[in-house]
Amino acid sequence: MLAMNIKKLVKKEVSGLQAYNAKELPCRIKLDANESPYGFSAALKAVGGLKTNRYPDPEAKTLKGLLAKDLRVGKDSILQGNGSDELIYYLIATFGGPVLYPVPTFSMYGIIAQALGEKRIAIPLNGEFDLDLRNILSEVKSEQPKLIFLSSPNNPTGNCFSSEKMLKIIENSGCIVVVDEAYQPFASERGFLPLLKDYQNLVIMRTLSKIGLAALRTGFLIADPLIVNEVNKVRLPFNVNSLSQAVAIAALREKKELKSFIGQIVSERRRLFKEMAKINGIRPYPSEANFILFSVNDPKKAYASLLNKGILVRNMGDAVRGCLRVTVGKPGENTAFLRALKEIRF
Ligand code: PMP
Repeated sequence: MLAMNIKKLVKKEVSGLQAYNAKELPCRIKLDANESPYGFSAALKAVGGLKTNRYPDPEAKTLKGLLAKDLRVGKDSILQGNGSDELIYYLIATFGGPVLYPVPTFSMYGIIAQALGEKRIAIPLNGEFDLDLRNILSEVKSEQPKLIFLSSPNNPTGNCFSSEKMLKIIENSGCIVVVDEAYQPFASERGFLPLLKDYQNLVIMRTLSKIGLAALRTGFLIADPLIVNEVNKVRLPFNVNSLSQAVAIAALREKKELKSFIGQIVSERRRLFKEMAKINGIRPYPSEANFILFSVNDPKKAYASLLNKGILVRNMGDAVRGCLRVTVGKPGENTAFLRALKEIRF
């Protein structure tokens, strides 16, 4: 074997990276990854006649047509991604850095920026998990970022950022502002889609992953066609496979079911929050998403003790000290989680 110093051959930005850790732990009740507990098994029938020998529709025309109608935007305002993760990659590849984002937030903004060798500017949220506007605007002035990512509702804190602050950033940053609305379907506010026509630098990102279709890896962005046109240049030709396109199209047509699943998750989120708030030593944070962040006296012990009972949540220790994050599951799963949480002795 011809031995080589592989580490030395890797770009230094990549060598210093820590890979996103999508842990696969065996468990009975999986409440760690912000997936929906409700799937679309009937939609799978749509792949029956699929031709596996042909490449997928590179433009995902039917899927985009459906999304465009639902969102009341033009087809040329939509770009499809293999999950919104891929679109984050494409956006940074297109516009470059510095890339600015608040922390804690979704870790992929930072990981991809680093992988692509772009400067990262991470600005801590304030005590209410809202944007620190003064700090952001001052960094905008001094560092002149090319891209700003705002996840609203924010993962892992669950809250929406103040719309006024977000608007100030869109109006005063002079760069592309991406509002990541992965969790918008669970929020009480309408989101930023209606503002697209007023701000050319605004990009909205959405995904099907949180509404029952995580396995498909299908996300999309909505923006001015000029932006879509530029980002499309770095898109790999067949990035959304035929299977995903077909199932997504069928599932998106099941509007009633989709709405009812979202309604159940929102009502279970309310119940979970109320019940968690009654437990000694637990502080849940209000959420507009399909998960709840909560602080707990001894997070390591709580995590292990839940896992011991087969319930997997996410330990947010690295991002928000003393906190765990639980995804809203089916009613029975949530009840089992609450029972297990009450039984922990600190
Ligand atoms: N944005 C946010 C805020 C997320 O939390 C996630 C998933 N954890 C994503 C984007 C990525 O979603 P997708 O499955 O579409 O890649």
